[in-house]
This record gives sequence, structure tokens and C-alpha cells, in this order.
Amino acid sequence: MLKIEDLHVEVEGREILRGINLAVNDGEFHVIMGPNGSGKSTLALTIAGHPKYKVTKGKIIFNGEDITSSSPDERARKGILLAFQVPPEIEGVRILDFLIQVLTEIKGMKPEEAYDVVLNKAKELWFDDKDMRRFVNVGFSGGERKRLELLQALLLEPKLLLLDEPDSGVDVDSLSVISRKIEELHNRGVSIILITHYGRIFGHIDKEKLKVHVMKDGKIVKSGGSEIIDMIEREGFKAIFGGENVE
Ligand code: ADP
Ligand code: MG
Ligand code: MG
Repeated sequence: MLKIEDLHVEVEGREILRGINLAVNDGEFHVIMGPNGSGKSTLALTIAGHPKYKVTKGKIIFNGEDITSSSPDERARKGILLAFQVPPEIEGVRILDFLIQVLTEIKGMKPEEAYDVVLNKAKELWFDDKDMRRFVNVGFSGGERKRLELLQALLLEPKLLLLDEPDSGVDVDSLSVISRKIEELHNRGVSIILITHYGRIFGHIDKEKLKVHVMKDGKIVKSGGSEIIDMIEREGFKAIFGGENVE
């Protein structure tokens, strides 16, 4: 479904990704780990088509089509969704209006139908009708922001979901609902690429299914199964790279 070939990416004139190769098949669950600054978010943002990230070499193929230079909108319509590491505040835009717009534009739903769908689904992520009338992420806690990202994912049910540290800055209760919802999306057949520093997000997901990659300095330096997560949790990245431990 997703094929990334020798991807090189520059941000503001600096090369951040230096030859990434990655293949994700239908329904697979991939995990990306790696120290801070290794390029994990850059990879996710590049797959989603963020204009700041310039592909200087290599390509991104999605369902047989070269999307390397497609706009973020086109990619969203093809079924790629990114849940941000730091979900942005959008002053003046109400969540309900925003989500109705997304559903009408991307899913072709009627606004009245989208209205009901949003308010119903919101409850599963512990949002009430009043929350849905707040501005997007304005004054939201870490847990609320990440739950709102998951709400978008559940509503859109993308083909490929990129989750950038869905567990960072999140309270324990939010973590457990987020973990359950990720599992639900996986069980519905959504392909997932999840960036994390911790194994706890996997909750009761069958860890045997995970395909794990470790990034360092803009490259994937190791790929394997969930034993990599256990190793990093136990000994830190030095278990993979040797030398001193890094953040
Ligand atoms: P990670 O998510 O693994 O912590 P990032 O992809 O956020 O790493 O960052 C990788 C490198 O790229 C870092 O050195 C970071 O400073 C740089 N970088 C990422 N995004 C930007 C940006 N928008 N502007 C400038 N530098 C950036
Ligand atoms: Mg980081
Ligand atoms: Mg990051």
C-alpha cells in the first residue's frame, strides 16, 4: 500500500531524512522509535505532504500511485491521515464545525448526517456536546488534544493512519482510551504507522503483529519485531546503537 524508496528530505536547506526505505502493506501495524531529533516527525509530516518538507531524492508510492508531489489535501482524499505530535490550536474554529466540514469534504457526507455522527462518536472519546463547541485545541490539555486526534481518525477511518507520539503528554486515563481506539482502528483494517518512545501504548494489542523500526540521524538503522521495543525499554537506545545512552 505504502512504499517509500530512498527518501531524502530537506527542511529549510538542511537534509533531515537521508535515504529512508519502508514498505507498509494493507492492515499492517508499524512502529517507529528513535532518539529525539532522529527525523521521526519529519518522516510522518513528509508522508502527509507538509509543504515545509522538501523531497530532494526518492519517492513515495501510495496504492500504486506516485504521491511524492501531491498536496496534503489530495493525500487526505486518498486516505492518508496524520495525527500530530503537537496538535495545533485553531483560534476561532469550533471543533464541531471543523469536523463536519472534514466529513462533508472528505467522506462526502451531508452536513446534517455529519453533525449526528460527530456528536455520537465524540462520546466514545469522552467529549460531550459542549466540548465539541469549543475552539480546536484552544486551552486543551495534552490528553484532550490527543483524544481529539483519535476522534478525527475514528470519524475518517483512513487507509493509512500516521500517529506521532499519541502517548506523549497524556494522563493515564486518556492513554488507556487512546490505546483502545488505536486497537479498534487496527482491527478494522487501517494500516498504522505509530511513532513512540514507549511500549505502554500497545496495551493489549498483540505485540507479535508489530513491525518495529528504529531511526537514527535520518535513517532506519534497525527493523524487526516487538523484541526491539522491549530491548529499548529495558536498556535504552544504547541496546541498538551501542555507546552512551541518548534521550
Ligand atoms: P523527531 O521527531 O525524531 O524528534 P524531528 O523530525 O522533529 O525529529 O526533527 C529532526 C531534525 O529536523 C531536528 O534536528 C529538527 O530540529 C529538524 N527539524 C524538524 N522540523 C523542522 C522545521 N520545521 N524547521 C527546522 N528544523 C526542523
Ligand atoms: Mg521528538
Ligand atoms: Mg517528533
